[in-house]
Amino acid sequence: MKRAEQQRLGSALLAALLAPLPATGRVALVLHELGHAAAALGTGGRLRALNLGADGSGQTAISGGNPVLILALGPLIPMLSLALIGARLWRSPSPLAPYPAGLALVFQLRLVLDLLLHGLLRPGPQADSTRLATLWGLPAPLVGLALGLLGLLTLLPVAQALRPRPFSDR
Ligand SMILES: [Zn+2]
Repeated sequence: MKRAEQQRLGSALLAALLAPLPATGRVALVLHELGHAAAALGTGGRLRALNLGADGSGQTAISGGNPVLILALGPLIPMLSLALIGARLWRSPSPLAPYPAGLALVFQLRLVLDLLLHGLLRPGPQADSTRLATLWGLPAPLVGLALGLLGLLTLLPVAQALRPRPFSDR
């Protein structure tokens, strides 16, 4: 690994370590709910309210729209957005770019882990995967696994951007 790449990864790691963990969960929750809101608006629905519970739960009240897409795309939209923003920042030559890139990766990883945790390991009745499973008549763990795998796939653009480039200028 080239020295410049090491410095960039170090900066990103520093930014990641400075992200306070409780706030990370809160921000990740807001991003997750905004994903549902975006999916609702994109499928002709209307946003009624966005509530964040003190217990770390969130709820987006929506009328209309496509319920399957709102449930399935909601969690994936913020992950994919962070992946694309992060990948672009990783490729930026700016010496400051690794800091926001590291933060984007922290939030993306948090969202992916939350999706796996709530969909697969601890699926509650209000979890997106449980509600999707009910709509489709499928076992909830299967839907949780599928959503989790899709979430992991959103890390590909970042992995691609982080791959050492063979023709580095330095
Ligand atoms: Zn959700």
